[in-house]
Amino acid sequence: MARYIFITGGVVSSLGKGLASAALGALLQARGYTVRLRKLDPYLNVDPGTMSPFEHGEVFVTDDGAETDLDLGHYERFTGVSARRSDTISAGRIYSNVLEKERRGEYLGKTIQVIPHVTNEIKDFLAIGEDEVDFMLCEIGGTVGDIEGLPFFEAIRQFAQERPRGKVILMHLTLLPWLAASGELKTKPTQHSVKELRSIGLQPDVLVCRSEQLIPDRERAKIALFCNVRPDSVIPAYDLKSIYEAPLAYHRAGLDRAVLDAFQISPAPRPDLSRWEDVMDRLTHAEGEVRIAVVGKYTELEDAYKSVSEALTHGGMANRVRVRPEWIAAEDLEQDGGTHLLDGYHGIIVPGGFGERGTEGMITAAQYAREKRVPYLGICLGMQTAVIEAARNLAGITDAGSQEFDRDGGAGRCTPVVYHLKEWVQGNRKVERKPDDAKGGTMRLGAYTAVLKSGSLISRVYDGATEIEDRHRHRYEVDVSYREQLEAAGLAFSGMSPDDRLPEVVEIEGHPWFIGVQAHPELKSKPFAPAPLFADFIRAAKEQERMV
Ligand code: GLN
Repeated sequence: MARYIFITGGVVSSLGKGLASAALGALLQARGYTVRLRKLDPYLNVDPGTMSPFEHGEVFVTDDGAETDLDLGHYERFTGVSARRSDTISAGRIYSNVLEKERRGEYLGKTIQVIPHVTNEIKDFLAIGEDEVDFMLCEIGGTVGDIEGLPFFEAIRQFAQERPRGKVILMHLTLLPWLAASGELKTKPTQHSVKELRSIGLQPDVLVCRSEQLIPDRERAKIALFCNVRPDSVIPAYDLKSIYEAPLAYHRAGLDRAVLDAFQISPAPRPDLSRWEDVMDRLTHAEGEVRIAVVGKYTELEDAYKSVSEALTHGGMANRVRVRPEWIAAEDLEQDGGTHLLDGYHGIIVPGGFGERGTEGMITAAQYAREKRVPYLGICLGMQTAVIEAARNLAGITDAGSQEFDRDGGAGRCTPVVYHLKEWVQGNRKVERKPDDAKGGTMRLGAYTAVLKSGSLISRVYDGATEIEDRHRHRYEVDVSYREQLEAAGLAFSGMSPDDRLPEVVEIEGHPWFIGVQAHPELKSKPFAPAPLFADFIRAAKEQERMV
C-alpha cells in the first residue's frame, strides 16, 4: 500500500505547488522509491479540455487520452512517469459521477450528500493504483479556504483517518511576504492559513515557505512554534533561475529528508542526484544562443504553450546551446510587411491552436520558412497550415483551406485540404464523430502510432525508427486524397497512420529542415530525455546560427 503525501497551498495561488510536488517526486525517485503524482482540481468543469488557453494555460494530454491540467506536464517532466486518466480529477468529474450513479439507482434510495457520497467518490479515486507505487503524491488545486475545495479537504481528512497510522502526511505551501518599508518578513498569513487547515481537521507535517528574502532561523522557529510543525520541517523555497533547479534546491533545503522523517523512515536511503546534476550542468554550460520564433495565437500567455517552451529548453540542453523563444502573434504577420517580424530567427515553430484567428499569419510563416530555407517545425495546427501553404503555393490549389476556418463547412469558400475527421481506428475499434457532437472529450485524443517512410528526415530524426508514438489532440485532419498531388509538388507525406488513411507527418523535400507533425511531440519531452524532434530542430537551428 502506497504512502500518501497530500500537497495543499495557502495565502495566495500560483506558489508553485505543482513544481514542488514534481520536484519532491523526483527526489523520492532519487532515493530509489517509485512514485505517482495526481492532481485534484476543485473547479466544476469535468476536465480542462473545454477551457480556453487564456483561462487555464495549456491542456496537457496523456497517453490514454485524458485532457488534463498543465501541472501533469510538470509531473511527467520531473519524474518521467507517464500520467494516466486516473491521475487527474475535478470536482466537476466527481459530481458528474455521483449524479450518474444516482440516476442509475446505485444509492438504493438514499439522500445524496457531500458527506459521505461526494467524499467517498473522491476517496475511491485516491485509492486507484495504491498497490503499484511506494509514494502517491496528490496535489489539491486552489488555496485552503476556497469554497469549492472543501469536499476535497474533508475527503483527505477521512482518508488519513482510515489508513494505518503514519501512512499519510500533509505538506502545505505558503508565502512569506516581505514588507520593504519595515524590512520584515511576515509570518502571519502563514499562521492564518495553517489555522484554516486545522479548523477543518488537517495538521500539516511539512511547511514549504516561498520567500523572496532569506528566511532567518528566528523566523523559522517562530513559524514552527505557531504552526505546530517541527523546525526542520519548515522548508524555505526561494526563487530559482530555472525550474529544473528545483529538485537540487529542495534537496539542499531538506524537503525530502523532512518528508521521510514525517513517515519515520529511518535510516533514509541515500539519494542519487546525478540525473539532476547533469541537467543543471547542461543548463549552465551552454554555448551560444539560438533564437526561435514561435508563431501562435495565444502568445500573450506563455503558459498556453508550456510544453512547447519546455521542450525547446530540453532541445537546447541536448545541443548545449541556449534557446531564446520569441512569441509572435500570428495575426501580426497578416499586416502589410508583417513577414519582417520573422527576419533573423534560426528556426520557426507554429504550435497547436483552434479556430480561424491568425491562421493566415501561420500560413505566411510556413511560406517564409520554406522559401528562406529556415528550419520549421509545425505542430498539429502548424502542420495543417503548412499543408495549406504547400497546396496553395506549390500545388496550385489557390483556394486551399481547412473546414475549421470555413464557416460554410468547406461548402463555399475554400477547397478543404484539411477536413473534419469523422472516423478513425483506435486499437482495434472504430471511432466515429459527427460535426454536431458535444465538444468535451470528442477529439482524436491520446497516443497513436505513425508509420515512417524510410530514408525520410523524420525517420532520421528518430534514428531510423519505422514507427513512433506521440500524443494527439485534434478534430481536423489533412485529407489524404491530396497526397499524390502534394507529393508531386514537393511535400512528402513521410508519416502515416498504420491504416495509411491519416497523414501524420509531412516534410518539404530538399529543404534543410521542414517538418509538420499532427501529434504533439512536446508533451513527452523531458529535460533528461529531450523529444527527438525538438533536439534535432534545435540542432538544425544551431547550424543556421553558425551560418549567420
Ligand atoms: N484545430 C486543429 C484541429 O482540431 C488543430 C488542433 C491542435 O493544434 N491541437 O485539428
